[in-house]
Amino acid sequence: MNAGVLKRVDELVYMEIEPPEIDESELLIRVKAASICGTDLRIFHGKKTKGVRYPSVIGHEFAGEVAQVGDKVTEFVVGERVCLDPVLPCGGCFYCLNGMENVCQNRVALGYEYDGCFAEYIKIPSKFITQGNIQKLPTHVPFTVGALAEPLSCVINGQRRLNISVGDTVVIIGAGPIGIMHMMVAKASGASKIIVSEPNWMRRETVGNFGADITIDPIKQSLKVMVLEQTDGLGADVVILAIGNPKIVNEALAIARKGGRISLFAGFSAGEMPPVDVNLIHYNELVVIGASALQRRDMKTSVRLIASGAVNLGKLVTDTFPLRKITEAFAMAESGEAIKVVLEP
Ligand SMILES: [Zn+2]
Ligand SMILES: [Zn+2]
Repeated sequence: MNAGVLKRVDELVYMEIEPPEIDESELLIRVKAASICGTDLRIFHGKKTKGVRYPSVIGHEFAGEVAQVGDKVTEFVVGERVCLDPVLPCGGCFYCLNGMENVCQNRVALGYEYDGCFAEYIKIPSKFITQGNIQKLPTHVPFTVGALAEPLSCVINGQRRLNISVGDTVVIIGAGPIGIMHMMVAKASGASKIIVSEPNWMRRETVGNFGADITIDPIKQSLKVMVLEQTDGLGADVVILAIGNPKIVNEALAIARKGGRISLFAGFSAGEMPPVDVNLIHYNELVVIGASALQRRDMKTSVRLIASGAVNLGKLVTDTFPLRKITEAFAMAESGEAIKVVLEP
């Protein structure tokens, strides 16, 4: 079969490799759509290395069709449409036992320890099947949208502890695919006013079309002035950093109301240590929340939201490429001109 193989840092090659062989307890999925994640770009450039093997097939956001079913697998049949949570928690560590399987100490994932989805076929090890990592995709949901159920799940996980509720004012900093998904999920949770800050006009326009109430170009306008104007001088109930820029951490803290919740959703590059005005957290009793990966239950919620139309991810896919153009696709994903780039093997 053909696959995009990460040979070493900065070298991703489209080539023929041996197709995976499954045993009686495994599944083989024909990959129909595989989207490129910011994390894949960081892996490509060697900025993320944990669990990454060389050479290997990377990629962890995908949807496809069951191509082959092991004799002992009873839950799936050939031809079924599915998408997957690529992270497998161990089930037994402190975090797994305390409702935080997304930060499991022994987790393994497709696209890291196991070969990923930038290939015609992907093998699904038995535990992913028995532990509920696979979700069936309704026929009316295109594969390209099914592939986005994974990043949407990460957004749902990130918003869980933010407790966005009816009437909240939410500020989202950054309107990449993740910022746009945050906007959609916040809206579905009942936020009444969503302000999105984004310097790139194309992305600003997109998030506006998707229903953001106010969009602002932070280069030309003060986000803080705007947020105070929009909240009777109080500040926002919730602020979500959907871009890992150390320069905006203090601004995010300064635009939240007292008792406001701030999500540091986006990761920062290793070693980035922005100075933080800790008195903002102290005197304003702010709640600062992190976010990592997803839980299996989020994938179920994600597919439900997509299937019902509560979120509409279709238009987020701005560019599709055949698998043989994987290097062009990566370049497009990095260019900032695309929202979400999807490979169709
Ligand atoms: Zn991802
Ligand atoms: Zn665990």
